[in-house]
Amino acid sequence: MRIAGILLGLVLAAGFSGPVYAQQTAGQRTLALDARLAGDANRTRLVIDLNRKVEVRAYQIANPNRIVVDLPEVTFDLPVGAGKQSRGLVAAYRYGNFAPGKARIVIDLREPANIDKTFVIPAVEDQPARLVIDLVRTDAATFLKQAIIPEKPQPNAQVQQQTTDTRPLIVIDPGHGGPDTGAIAKTGDEEKEVVLQVAKQLRAELLRTSRYRVLMTRDDDTFVPLEERVSIARTNGASLFISVHADSLSKGTGEASGATVYTVSERASDKEAQSLADKENRADILAGYNLATQPDDVANILFNLAQRDTMNASAMFARTLVGTLKKSARLHKSPLKSAGFVVLRSPEVPSVLLELGYLSSPADLKQMTSDAWREKVSRSVVEAIDKFFASRTSTVVGR
Ligand SMILES: [Zn+2]
Repeated sequence: MRIAGILLGLVLAAGFSGPVYAQQTAGQRTLALDARLAGDANRTRLVIDLNRKVEVRAYQIANPNRIVVDLPEVTFDLPVGAGKQSRGLVAAYRYGNFAPGKARIVIDLREPANIDKTFVIPAVEDQPARLVIDLVRTDAATFLKQAIIPEKPQPNAQVQQQTTDTRPLIVIDPGHGGPDTGAIAKTGDEEKEVVLQVAKQLRAELLRTSRYRVLMTRDDDTFVPLEERVSIARTNGASLFISVHADSLSKGTGEASGATVYTVSERASDKEAQSLADKENRADILAGYNLATQPDDVANILFNLAQRDTMNASAMFARTLVGTLKKSARLHKSPLKSAGFVVLRSPEVPSVLLELGYLSSPADLKQMTSDAWREKVSRSVVEAIDKFFASRTSTVVGR
């Protein structure tokens, strides 16, 4: 197998018996405690301090050029800002849970670089165990020769439900997760965490009504591929799919604040919507998982007449949601937009993407991270969902 041939650093955990990917108890948890980059544009070394030795596997992925390091479950307790500074061949790196029992570090490269060595040094006396990744500069052609197609993460079995319950199923989709942090505020607050907290609050408010079943595409800090988010909604027969995000404007691109509700469209409603969809659709790439390597039935779903009902329902819910959000949140100056979001492309599930606000706006950030705001906004979303299903039921009855 090609992947096995390019297994670059296989280091078996010393004194660790039993499956490496097994659920770890608190006492056995693997911790990543510190990280540093050294070297220059020809040779760069990334060192991660761990509390113990683990098995790692590193490989190269092209388009864009990245180094991916897979590890068993690791709790990343790295200093704030770790991975954000570039040095030598490394532009930046990200880390997080990639799948149940699996963690991943994704290194963005400034120049093509091969993995020279990957190894883990066991802890000695007062020195922690250290994961070392040595990168050496190469040319684009050589990089490509060494690059592999990454494995697909196993779908999380917990998000498949078998039930005879006929209440509408709402799928809440907190954006990003794991090595894909989403937008990052100046304060270090990450989109993946901000939206997860809102999604959990929304789930609680929805369950409180007893009128709905609720499923989340993730309820912890784990990566979920875009395609899987869509398939969770479709295979479970969702009645509504709500993806929750928070945007950010980069420095020098003006200011914006407030919430926006997006639906899917082939052509973006404006430039800002287009660039947001481009950004959100890159989530898989950021987590070291290429959209180009999967059967792209999601990316290539054609917009046809069969989808028109779904699109109309999505648009109706989006309008309703903007209406109820007015009471609890500041809205963006044009709060209804559309663009080609991969995650909204279920042909039969009405889907919207709610951008709660901007992490780049201090006022928005303050609100989005407050309990009171999360509660208020969640109630507004529930109100919109109630109205949506009330009007759909009456439409059906009136036919
Ligand atoms: Zn996002």
